[in-house]
Amino acid sequence: MPDYRFSTIAGGGYLRDIRKVAVLGAGTMGARIAAHLANASIPAVLLDIVPRQLTPDEQRKGLALSDPRVRNRIAQAGLDAALKSRPAAFFTPEAARMITVGNFEDHLAWVKDCDWIIEAVTEDRSIKRALLEKLQAVRAPGAIVSSNTSGISIASIAEGFPEEFRRHWLGTHFFNPPRYMKLLEVIPTADTLPDVVQAVSRFGDVVLEKGIVIAKDSPNFIANRVGTFTTLNVLHIMQEGGYTIEEIDALTGPAMGLPKSATFRTLDIVGLDVLIHVVENLKESLPDDERRDVFEVPAFIAQMAERKLLGDKTGQGFYKKVKGGEESAILTLDLQTFEYRERQRPKFPSLDMARNIEDPRQRIATLVQSPDRAGEFYRRTLGDTFHYAAHRIPEISDDIVSIDNAMKWGFNWECGVFEIWDALGVEKIVGQWQKENRPVPPLAAKLLASGKKSFYERAEGVTRYFDFSTAAMRALEDGPGVIVLSALRDRKREIKRNPGASLIDLGDGVVCLEFHSKMNSIGADTVQMMHAGLKALSDGFDAMVIGNQASNFSVGANLMLILMSIQEGEWDDVDQAVRTFQNANMALKYAPKPVVAAPFGLTLGGGVEISIHSTRVRAAAETYMGLVEVGVGIIPAGGGTKEMLVRAMDAAPRDEEADPFTQVKEVFQNIGMARVSTSAEEARRLGYLAPRDSISMNRDRQIADAKQLALDLVKLGYRSGKPREDILVLGQAAFAKMKLGLHLMRRAEYISDYDVIVGTQLARVLSGGGEFTSPQRVSEQYLLDLEREAFVSLCGQKKTVERMQYMLKKGKPLRN
Ligand code: NAD
Repeated sequence: MPDYRFSTIAGGGYLRDIRKVAVLGAGTMGARIAAHLANASIPAVLLDIVPRQLTPDEQRKGLALSDPRVRNRIAQAGLDAALKSRPAAFFTPEAARMITVGNFEDHLAWVKDCDWIIEAVTEDRSIKRALLEKLQAVRAPGAIVSSNTSGISIASIAEGFPEEFRRHWLGTHFFNPPRYMKLLEVIPTADTLPDVVQAVSRFGDVVLEKGIVIAKDSPNFIANRVGTFTTLNVLHIMQEGGYTIEEIDALTGPAMGLPKSATFRTLDIVGLDVLIHVVENLKESLPDDERRDVFEVPAFIAQMAERKLLGDKTGQGFYKKVKGGEESAILTLDLQTFEYRERQRPKFPSLDMARNIEDPRQRIATLVQSPDRAGEFYRRTLGDTFHYAAHRIPEISDDIVSIDNAMKWGFNWECGVFEIWDALGVEKIVGQWQKENRPVPPLAAKLLASGKKSFYERAEGVTRYFDFSTAAMRALEDGPGVIVLSALRDRKREIKRNPGASLIDLGDGVVCLEFHSKMNSIGADTVQMMHAGLKALSDGFDAMVIGNQASNFSVGANLMLILMSIQEGEWDDVDQAVRTFQNANMALKYAPKPVVAAPFGLTLGGGVEISIHSTRVRAAAETYMGLVEVGVGIIPAGGGTKEMLVRAMDAAPRDEEADPFTQVKEVFQNIGMARVSTSAEEARRLGYLAPRDSISMNRDRQIADAKQLALDLVKLGYRSGKPREDILVLGQAAFAKMKLGLHLMRRAEYISDYDVIVGTQLARVLSGGGEFTSPQRVSEQYLLDLEREAFVSLCGQKKTVERMQYMLKKGKPLRN
């Protein structure tokens, strides 16, 4: 078997081109995998079976079974369901045009020009084999074929098939929902060609933005094997320790670095039927597993299944949502009586205290030591997970990194199993096992025998992990095309730092402005660092990238600072702070050298303003952009209102007959309704990304892509312009139309009286001040001054202050 250790898969070399893909099966997974291919602009063919009966609707329409609309109905229904699914499967609904639907009987030959064919039909080996038999006659030699199975042995599905087929055959296990879950397990068999594995891995990484983990062809691969063990083990420990449903969810949620849905909310979403199926499959296929005792469905789960308490799909599971008048409540199942009761708040003082520890490793290490039932739970469950995972090497993977990544990317764990183990002390845990006469897994024994004390080591920006096969530390290289800012910092490439932001040398003459304040909110120190970055451009750097690798690009201006100035009546300070930010953004726009912003995740208010003033934007595919200032009773005044107007007027048709107000209206609605994009592609539609801006599918590659873009701009001879004085504003007529719009919205009770006040201020700026009786040309600075005046005047209003206070307290807007 070739070397598929984690650190070797990112390599380059010759790669097959994947230009067109077929997805066989348009169910939950198939349709959403096709949707994600469409998101990446890859044409996809989506096929499913032919129905044997007409629906009543088809009968009414007089359709025959031979009608193509009937024959393609199942694939079409799958696509329609993906279009409706929430969270959205598509970046924009228009992407669905990349997908062609058909059926297995009439259209299987369409796969002949597909470079990759993904099988995602019912989880049944004989169904999968029967389909693949037919596929062999039509697929082009060399086309890659893979299965999305979650539990059937990949080699067994293609057993006895011709060698050429088997060489191009492998597993590609997407997680649900495929757009949002980062993990893609790639499972080669002993026959799969290494370049097939490389091609799919690289395509998955660069084009589909997935985190690739190479798994062995063992039952349920990596994430589901370790994940199912952990979940079931928790259920057993719960019973033995007498923990309640709420207690387990409190213990197995964010406190230990796991998602909020914890154990039981997750099971309600997955469905108990699926859990039982997976557990039974594992039990049957793992006769020699040392913890086969754990793969036993607890009696209460079987009883719940009998009573059809399967979770969301039957409307009730561990939790049940009940409606009582206006309010709805969530009840919890009593596992003794199988009746629903009110939720009880679990009481674990140790948990309440640990919540304040931000670093998850440190938090878990603290929790494990607590002497109460919480500590007892963590000691048991984590110890068992470490023990089980360590035993799985080399059975499910050759390296610990793949197991850690699989749990982080497939189950949204904040830290991997071995990372947590390091935090608790490998020797300490092993010592405990020795005391209990529990066998020490070979991986841990080898690590300690080699004189090492942890699975990972990090020094000078390089992470090394303990490699089981060589019993030595092995460097984890950043893949080509990936820049990790924290690693650069460790390598002493940080040039300047203050509490809000840093400048980091990305090499090749490019400097990175990185935010690192809480939620990356923008305050005086951020703006100061923007100026420092611009100065670095005149001191020798060729270009600047504005980006970071936190969970969000920026939530916008630091409201707390604004509110403090307002409450102290320091109006000059408010005015000055806005002016400084406007100046910084204008300096970005007219910087002598290119500036590339790299927004991702939440990019709100000031975060948008910085982006739209940069020379170019290289957004991550998952970017949620919006000028949301009205939610806190103000309007964008860091140049946001001005710049959106400039863009709108530049995009207005030159045609005499065209009404440029159409463009202004769109900006008015986007800002006035605080619209936030649900993807970078949608941000383009809302005008936050310009036609010249581009998108990186994989966020891990975004900084490197932005750097490359900046260097390309340098090479192509970038020239800054100068502030404009030719912005067309439409004056009173436009102001009146926008005010009428607000009036109608108020009358229909879509908005409040105060929304009308804020909206009027926005309309005034967008019409050029409201006084011009005919269209005029004005300067950018003129518009910036209008913006700032509107901002400061709104800050003086009580309802704006209330909105700001509410946002700071509750994290959501107040509609007053
Ligand atoms: P699904 O039941 O939603 O869809 C299966 C599709 O197969 C349906 O569209 C159905 O029409 C089609 N089909 C039924 N009988 C067929 C036949 N005889 N021949 C050909 N096609 C037939 O299932 P799903 O959840 O999309 O799962 C598909 C595959 O992906 C399975 O192998 C499953 O184990 C795997 N998987 C599922 C998930 C998940 O969360 N649902 C996650 C990862 C992997």
